[in-house]
Amino acid sequence: MIYSQLAVVGILNFRQGIDIIKLARSENIHEYRTPEADTNLNDGKSNYSKYGPFSLSTAPAENDGNGKGSSSVTVYDPYSSAVFKDENGDELISMHPLVVLSHETKHNSDKNEGIIDRRLNADGTQKISEDRAIATENITAKMIGEPEREFHNIKLEKIEEMLL
Ligand SMILES: [Zn+2]
Repeated sequence: MIYSQLAVVGILNFRQGIDIIKLARSENIHEYRTPEADTNLNDGKSNYSKYGPFSLSTAPAENDGNGKGSSSVTVYDPYSSAVFKDENGDELISMHPLVVLSHETKHNSDKNEGIIDRRLNADGTQKISEDRAIATENITAKMIGEPEREFHNIKLEKIEEMLL
C-alpha cells in the first residue's frame, strides 16, 4: 500500500517523482512503515501514537544536514488522514495520507542529499526544511482537491526538533 501510494505521489508531482526514484536508487536506505509495523523506535511503541506521522534520520543520522546524506525511516498511516488537535481538542488540520506521504518524502529527499536546513525561515515561523516540505505537500494537496496549508503543526514541530 505504501509503495503504491509513493507511486501515486510521484505521478501527481513529477518533480517529486524524480526525488522518489532517487531515494529508491540511493545507497542510503529509506524505509516506510505503518504505525503498526513501527515497534522499535520508542520502547516497543511507535512515536506515531504520541506525535503522528514523522520521518527519522537514521544511520548516519548526523549527515542529514551536512551534505553527506543519511538514511531515513518514515512512519505514517496509509489508510487514515492524520488529524491534529490543539490543547482544547479542537481539530487544527486533517491531512490526507497522500499529503502526509508527500510531506515526509520531501524531508527524506533532503536527508538523502544531506541538505536538511533547521534554521528558521525569513519570517521566523518555522524551519526552512518545513517550508520546503509544505511547498511540496501543497502541490499534492492541490492535485487531489485537499486544502493547502502554510504552517507546520506545532505538535509535529516538537517531534521534528528531535526527528524532523
Ligand atoms: Zn515536516
